[in-house]
Amino acid sequence: MIPYGRQCIDANDINAVLEVLRSDWLTQGPAIANFEKRVCEKVKSQYGVAVSNATAGLHIAYLGLGLGPGDRLWTSPNTFVASANAALYCGATVDFVDIDPKSYNISITCLEEKLKTAKSANKLPKIVTAVHFSGQSCDMKSIYELSRTYGFAIVEDASHAIGGSYRDTPVGCCRYSDAAVFSFHPVKIITTGEGGLVTTNNSELYEKMTRLRSHGITRDSDKMTEPSHGPWYYQQLDLGWNYRMTDLQAALGYSQMTRLEEFVSRRTRLARRYNDLLASLPLSTPWETSDANSSWHLYVVRLDGQKSQITHRQLFESMRGAGIGVNLHYIPVHIQPYYKRLGFKMGDFPEAEKYYSEAMSLPLYFGLSDDTQDSIAETLSSLLLA
Ligand SMILES: *Cc1c(COP(=O)(O)O)cnc(C)c1O
Repeated sequence: MIPYGRQCIDANDINAVLEVLRSDWLTQGPAIANFEKRVCEKVKSQYGVAVSNATAGLHIAYLGLGLGPGDRLWTSPNTFVASANAALYCGATVDFVDIDPKSYNISITCLEEKLKTAKSANKLPKIVTAVHFSGQSCDMKSIYELSRTYGFAIVEDASHAIGGSYRDTPVGCCRYSDAAVFSFHPVKIITTGEGGLVTTNNSELYEKMTRLRSHGITRDSDKMTEPSHGPWYYQQLDLGWNYRMTDLQAALGYSQMTRLEEFVSRRTRLARRYNDLLASLPLSTPWETSDANSSWHLYVVRLDGQKSQITHRQLFESMRGAGIGVNLHYIPVHIQPYYKRLGFKMGDFPEAEKYYSEAMSLPLYFGLSDDTQDSIAETLSSLLLA
C-alpha cells in the first residue's frame, strides 16, 4: 500500500542517533537545547520547548496560558482530536468554530459572529487555537485583531506547518500568537519518531512550560520560594508532567531540520504536479491563499458529488483496493462519540461536516516519485471518469 505520508531518514539522521547512543546522555542532555535552538533560529521565535509529542505541547501551552476549570477554548472542528482534548485535560470547556469552505481553516466570519454572541452571554473563550490545516496558515492577522477586541490568547496548532510561512514570516515566529506547537510524528514534515516543540516569545510562558514539561520542578535558586536545603535541592512549584523529549529524538530532529527546505520544496512541487494531473477531474484541488506558503503536509481533494457517478465511500474503497493509502483528514471532532457525550451533535458545524463527506487526502511525502504520483492520478481518473 502506498502510504498517505511517511518519513525520509538518511544516513546523516542515522549517524546522529548513533552518536547519542554512544554518548553520556540519552535524555536531558545537550541534544535537546541544540534542537530547540535550531528550530527557534529557523522559525524566528525567541524560545522553544521540545516535548514528547505535540499533544503534550498543546497541553503545556494551554496550562501555561492559565487555562483551567471554568475557562473555554475554541478551535476548529477540522483537526486531530488532540487540539481539543488538551483543553479538556486542563479541566476547561471546548467549543468549535466552523471552517472556511475554501481554506478548510477556522472561518474568520464564523469566529467573529460567535465572539459577538459570546460577549453578550459573558462566555468569551480564554484561548482560540488556530490549526494550520494541511500546512497552510490561518488568517492570523485577523484572529489577532479579534483577540485585541475580545481579549483571548492565541495558540497555533502548527503540527502540519513547520517550514511554512505567513505574510513573509515563518510559521512559529508567534508574531500573531502567544505560542505555536509543532508535531514531529513520522507523517509530518520532519520527524523525531514521536515529538513536538512549542515556540513562544513570552519569557514567562517559556519558563512555565519548561517547568511543566518536567514535573513542575525547578533547580533555579532564583525561582525557589524557600531557601535551598543543599546542593541536591530542587523545588516543585507547579503540578507538571514528564513530557520530556529524549536526546535520541532531539538529535534526529536536529539532523532532519537541515533538510527542511528540501522537504518542503519537494512537497510543493508534488502538490503542483497533482494540481496539473487532476485539473480535468470532477473534484476540487486545494485552494491557496496569497498570504501564505504552505508546507504541504496534506494534499486534499474534494469530490464533486454532482458531477461523478461514484460515491465518496466507493472512491475510498476503490483507491485503497488499488493499493493507494488515501486517508481522510479529518472526521469533525464534534461528531466523535466522546464529544457527542459532551453535548455536540451532527449539524452543529455544517461546513466541516460537508467537507468531511467529500474530502480525501492523497499520498504526499518526500520520497513519492513522479512515476508513482502519475499512477495515483491515473487510478483516480479512471475511477472518476468510469
Ligand atoms: C499530529 C497532530 C497533532 C498531535 O501530534 P502528536 O505529536 O502526535 O501528539 C495535533 N494536532 C494536529 C493538527 C495534528 O496533525
